[in-house]
Amino acid sequence: MSTERTGLRPASVVPLEAGAGPENPPCPACGEPLFGWIDLRPGLAGPVSRCESCGLGVVGQAGGVEEALAALDRLSAGGTTRIANRAGFAAWIGGAGWAGLEPAGRYLFTVESVRRLVANRDQLVTGARWSPGAGIATMWQTILNGFTFGRNIALGALGRAKAVPAEKPWQRRLDGLICVVVAIPALLAAVPLELTAAATRRGSATSLDFELL
Ligand SMILES: [Zn+2]
Repeated sequence: MSTERTGLRPASVVPLEAGAGPENPPCPACGEPLFGWIDLRPGLAGPVSRCESCGLGVVGQAGGVEEALAALDRLSAGGTTRIANRAGFAAWIGGAGWAGLEPAGRYLFTVESVRRLVANRDQLVTGARWSPGAGIATMWQTILNGFTFGRNIALGALGRAKAVPAEKPWQRRLDGLICVVVAIPALLAAVPLELTAAATRRGSATSLDFELL
């Protein structure tokens, strides 16, 4: 086993910039290197990396600022932009089972990563509010993902997310049953968890307002 793999080198004293390289491309939002977070999973375009500085998550190859801004703009509706918060409590407890990991998603935002990203086009984040309905739904689905073979089955059935069904037919049948049985207990757990998360500014969904500088 190489020295690097055994972790004998004192990685903690290496500045973040030293981690930059082909395997750690720069974060589109802040330029710091991205580090591996989640391995390739069914339904994802690639392994997921994250920025230790601003918290942005990137699925597959990281693009540039323009691509990340375009992805952010696609989350905008009716003058409000709502993100599934990668710095939220649900992402932390869910990991690969976090409901915010949707098949089409390439960039997994945090408020800080959005703040740094929109600064590139002279925009300022003027408001960041917890989004209760989407937040509780994300926490609920994240808990359900801990019980099912597939991902986001319940929100997918409700038309609120794109599901990643399990591979085998028997697993898909079982997932349907599990969602019905666990739905209410999971909701009873999700509500207080999400309320606590929101109280500590780590809610699962955040609505953002912007202003031009
Ligand atoms: Zn970053």
